[in-house]
Amino acid sequence: MKIPLVDLKANYESVKPEIDAAIKKIIDNSSFIMGQPVKDFEEHFAKAVRMPHTIGVANGTVAVELALRTLKLAPGDEVILPANTFIATSEAVTAVGAACVFVDVEDDSLNISPEGIRRVITPKTKAIIAVHLYGRMADMDAVMAIAEEHRLAVIEDAAQAHLAEFKGDMPGERSGMASYSFFPAKNLGAFGDAGAVVCREDHLAKHISMMRNHGRLGKYEHEFEAYNMRLDALQAAILDAKLPHLATWTEQRITLARRYDRLLKGIVETPPVHPDCKHVYYMYVIRTPQRDKLQAFLKEKGIETGIHYPIPLHLQPAYAYLDHKEGDFPVAEQAAKDILSIPIYPELTEEQQDYIVRAIKEFFRKK
Ligand SMILES: *Cc1c(COP(=O)(O)O)cnc(C)c1O
Repeated sequence: MKIPLVDLKANYESVKPEIDAAIKKIIDNSSFIMGQPVKDFEEHFAKAVRMPHTIGVANGTVAVELALRTLKLAPGDEVILPANTFIATSEAVTAVGAACVFVDVEDDSLNISPEGIRRVITPKTKAIIAVHLYGRMADMDAVMAIAEEHRLAVIEDAAQAHLAEFKGDMPGERSGMASYSFFPAKNLGAFGDAGAVVCREDHLAKHISMMRNHGRLGKYEHEFEAYNMRLDALQAAILDAKLPHLATWTEQRITLARRYDRLLKGIVETPPVHPDCKHVYYMYVIRTPQRDKLQAFLKEKGIETGIHYPIPLHLQPAYAYLDHKEGDFPVAEQAAKDILSIPIYPELTEEQQDYIVRAIKEFFRKK
């Protein structure tokens, strides 16, 4: 049996007629930039994630960047973010001219550590980026409490957390601003790059909407210089065709996660289940000190796995200038050595899942 870490083809096959029709309609109309398809998706996505505004943008990286730009940060302003995330989060901080301040993560959720945040706050701190890693939201009670106490902005990087909840609130509901990615492998994926910013305030939505489109007031009237960071009409139409299925797909991910929890109990460390969190399992991350050997064993069995992420950001060559060293963030560093993402997606069959579980059991029996 061959089981990939993600199976985009299987997902397409499950909704092929709707997607093909959506693509055909765009091509027939040959109107590829902005327009009704983008508006429709923005309206529907905003409803789905319970935020007043969605602004479709080119990808999830610029979504973080545009969200940060609304804060009008000055050079030297500091933005706090977790060491265990994809580099896109920190690239956005640098792109707006602010300074990245990394902190460790919590051992339980592998999300940003509230104590870590408290330790690095300075007079220059302006914002915190809470990344909802793997589809589980960060502790938004703690993050918002710190932010309110120190008058900091909060932006939620929800690239991995479509339809996730923390105590019933979705990304952005507490902070007012969240970013999404629709990279093909994400829980809601386009057929190329795509992303969105969701926000509460009308004037911020308008600002973001103008920033992604040359600061336009009219076709050739520009209030300010900005960017071309628009969401493609074609991607918007594809996303809009997939969106009605997202809730079901999310439930399927959760059902598969509960089944893994059950079948792997006592065999390997499974992701902790927290009653406050609706975890949407972009990744199902197990932990074992024998990670590399297990990964190689599963590969031999035809099972593809991933590591999210093998090098914490503070130890990346890209951030050598921050002078971090091994030992600075022990939880993130330990996680990088023992985490393993195993296949989870709506189309994964019980038969495939049983095969994966059998292989994991076989590995540990041999030990
Ligand atoms: C995927 C991802 C991004 C970037 O999204 P792109 O659409 O690939 O630019 C940002 N942050 C996190 C946490 C991600 O997982």
